[in-house]
Amino acid sequence: MFKAILIEKSGEGQTCRLADLDESQLPSADVTVRVAYSTLNYKDALAITGKSPVVRKFPMVPGIDLAGTVESSSHPGLEPGAAVVLNGHGVGEGHFGGLAEKARVDGDWLVRIPKPFGPREAAAIGTAGFTAMLCVLALERHGVRPGDGEVLVTGAAGGVGSVAIALLARRGYSVIASTGRTQEAEYLRALGAAGVIDRSELSTPGKPLGKERWAGVVDAVGSHTLANACATTRYRGAVAACGLAGGMDFPATVAPFILRGVTLYGIDSVRAPRPLREEAWARLAQDLDVSKLESMTREVGLGEAIAAAGEVLAGKVRGRLLVNVGR
Ligand code: NDP
Repeated sequence: MFKAILIEKSGEGQTCRLADLDESQLPSADVTVRVAYSTLNYKDALAITGKSPVVRKFPMVPGIDLAGTVESSSHPGLEPGAAVVLNGHGVGEGHFGGLAEKARVDGDWLVRIPKPFGPREAAAIGTAGFTAMLCVLALERHGVRPGDGEVLVTGAAGGVGSVAIALLARRGYSVIASTGRTQEAEYLRALGAAGVIDRSELSTPGKPLGKERWAGVVDAVGSHTLANACATTRYRGAVAACGLAGGMDFPATVAPFILRGVTLYGIDSVRAPRPLREEAWARLAQDLDVSKLESMTREVGLGEAIAAAGEVLAGKVRGRLLVNVGR
């Protein structure tokens, strides 16, 4: 038997509880992982609370991330004892996920944890940090260089935002953090932000074009924030859009794209292809300062994760929420 968070269908709604599961209840797949850590991402909070239809099959173990060691494997590339991390691939949505002491998954979904990280650091980074890295890679590939001007990070005190700031600052970019929690300015500056702005500067309806400011943008918020970020991006700059914390709409005009040659990149972590995953994890291992990661991470036990989901949706969690599944 092992412990897991279990979401079950009940009438029109759903219930969520800490349960004891039997290994025979795990789905069939070629690798069984002894999970050490999972996390609570925004999407996990939506799944646990049922606020959005993230869960596609019931019952479901939520958790879009897991990190731990391979317990048994018939996958040719993964031996027992290998330290592995999984982000996305529909786990915690349509396939039992990481908020459990064990998981059985397709070996092709697993990435070996690169040194100097172990399962704790890999999970603390989680989908949010992995997505932040995908955004940074998109800006780099576009050709945004540290000398080109300021880079805006929205939803700055959240998971994606915190990791994006640390990664960009490490590479020498001048990062401006947009946050609704200006009391966290010191935290954001310690991660590497050169400046902090109040998110209200970006979150209300704006003009089709504004004063050119950003060489690049990492946007975790969407809606008016994304529209205003595009409208104030410099000529031939780039915006990496990954989130919808402020809304799923995109009330923009084509002006920034056709008059300033701005490029909008869509960032998806769930189905990111394997070579990109490996590249992102290798770059995280190279660029992410472990002490900064620690400063943005709070640890909770498996049993506490259900209550913590509400805090995530209320925007009260700073940085990353790590779940120690054995605690
Ligand atoms: P968090 O909850 O950790 O952070 C979200 C942040 O957004 C908050 O901390 C807050 O930052 C800001 N925010 C919250 N509500 C609002 C609002 N109403 N208006 C403006 N800003 C708001 O989430 P994550 O960092 O884990 O994820 C961020 C977004 O990215 C989510 O929408 C998530 O679904 C998405 N995402 C997408 C992925 C992909 O594959 N495309 C992968 C991972 C995440 P502050 O307090 O600083 O203002």
